[in-house]
Amino acid sequence: MLAVKNVSKSYVIPEGVQEVLKGVSFDFPRGSSFAILGESGSGKSTLLHVMAGLEKPDTGTVTLNDTNMWILNESGRAKLRREKMAVVFQQYNLINSLTIGQNISFLPKLAGRYDSSFIRKTVDALGLSNILSKYPEQTSGGQQQRTALARALVSKPSVIFADEPTGNLDEDNTQRVIEVLTKFTNNMSTSLIVATHSELLASKMNSVTVLEGGTLKLVKT
Ligand code: ADP
Ligand code: MG
Repeated sequence: MLAVKNVSKSYVIPEGVQEVLKGVSFDFPRGSSFAILGESGSGKSTLLHVMAGLEKPDTGTVTLNDTNMWILNESGRAKLRREKMAVVFQQYNLINSLTIGQNISFLPKLAGRYDSSFIRKTVDALGLSNILSKYPEQTSGGQQQRTALARALVSKPSVIFADEPTGNLDEDNTQRVIEVLTKFTNNMSTSLIVATHSELLASKMNSVTVLEGGTLKLVKT
């Protein structure tokens, strides 16, 4: 279970202080999938980053299976992230000096969870098998987005945070990503938390939430 309690987060901007998250409390049970809807700028990426231990909240707690990740030190948090979580970033964050294949197998190798047949299956399902030896800059935005997703899946995390994972994909590839995401999370009882504008993707999640006015509300289960 991932539990968010009273999380607030502001940014200091030239015009003053911008309150983005104003007391978000929400429980994400293990094995369930959630969509987070919300207008651009409503704080979806900020919330995902706070939940993934990448950005510190001003107040509040994020606990994963009873471990409050914001009382751990940076290396404890990094370890928790490496062992339990994966993030599909909105801007992909691939490593440019590694090939697509190396980007995908890097983390499971590091974590000692390298499973070559699972990697092959994931890569095939996402239509990436013929670009494994290319470098990110030699591939399209959609291919990079699917690589970021493959990289997240193959480390077999307990929780996946995906930030607009179909934002750059055409209809066929959106369908493909949705299939892979739902199949994977059902089979491995992974929790999935997806910020998205895609109605189709949202409709495939167990629950739909909306981030509005700095708080997160359930709109459909
Ligand atoms: P969303 O993902 O829903 O589009 P974001 O979480 O990216 O929203 O951003 C929420 C708000 O916080 C936006 O107004 C954005 O400009 C602001 N913001 C995000 N990150 C920073 C930052 N590092 N510094 C200042 N403002 C930020
Ligand atoms: Mg965003």
